[in-house]
Amino acid sequence: MEKVNMAKRFQGKVAVVTASTQGIGLGVAERLGLEGASVVISSRKQKNVDKAVEKLKALGIEVIGIICHVSNEQHRKNLIDKTVEKYGRIDVFVLNAAVNPSAADLLKTKESVLDKLWEINVKSSILLMQDAAPHMQKGSSVVFISSIAGYQPPSAMAMYGVTKTALLGLTKALAAEMAPDTRVNCVAPGFVPTHFAQALLGNDAVRKALEGKTLLNRLGTTGNMAAAIAFLASDDASYITGETLVVAGGMASRL
Ligand code: NAP
Repeated sequence: MEKVNMAKRFQGKVAVVTASTQGIGLGVAERLGLEGASVVISSRKQKNVDKAVEKLKALGIEVIGIICHVSNEQHRKNLIDKTVEKYGRIDVFVLNAAVNPSAADLLKTKESVLDKLWEINVKSSILLMQDAAPHMQKGSSVVFISSIAGYQPPSAMAMYGVTKTALLGLTKALAAEMAPDTRVNCVAPGFVPTHFAQALLGNDAVRKALEGKTLLNRLGTTGNMAAAIAFLASDDASYITGETLVVAGGMASRL
């Protein structure tokens, strides 16, 4: 992560981040942890969880790692149970898991693929919040991770884009339901070179074209995303709820 002046906005707080053993999720876990949070990280594979826990511990962060494939009911329950058992409550919940298994046109996308996209990218986040909400008190905060693709779903990732559009609505709906004690917001990242984006950004021409679509002439970093997510999760955003912050270097989204 880039060097920044680190405040301690999450001292004494407990943060759960899903899909957080690499990329944006790990960047968020690191940022929240360096700002004082006790962090619970998770993903599908034990070896990835172990590696990420070691990385964060080496930075002096208080962290536990738990296996959680977000579409697995038992994994979701275990994530919440273990967090509450260890830390007693949840102050910040960042819902970061997503898949993009198909580049097919919508009219050619198989039902099983539509189901998988809906299940991982949208439904699992609702189910996780059903389990987590009873442990979230006044002043707590939820952040969903959408995408710039949610504003104008590109043809090569149309259904993925549509699930990311759904998160904008989910943010509004859940913000109303969890108010006034819990704020619910969303970050819509632009393009960030991670494993997830490799299929797209591994192509030099595509990468250059996407850089050219930003006003800042560059792709985003995981640190850029983590900074915005930490802001929305923190008390600095205490009067912001139900909103989506686009963090895309000025790439076109909406007026
Ligand atoms: P990434 O670097 O590839 O990391 C993905 C993480 O998710 C890994 O830790 C992976 O670990 C975990 N994971 C994958 N499937 C999972 C599942 N079903 N349940 C739980 N964990 C799972 O990805 P990223 O680029 O940081 O993407 C993170 C989020 O940002 C996604 O919601 C994505 O849609 C969004 N986003 C990314 C970009 C971009 O350009 N990178 C742009 C816009 C939005 P395991 O393999 O161990 O499970």
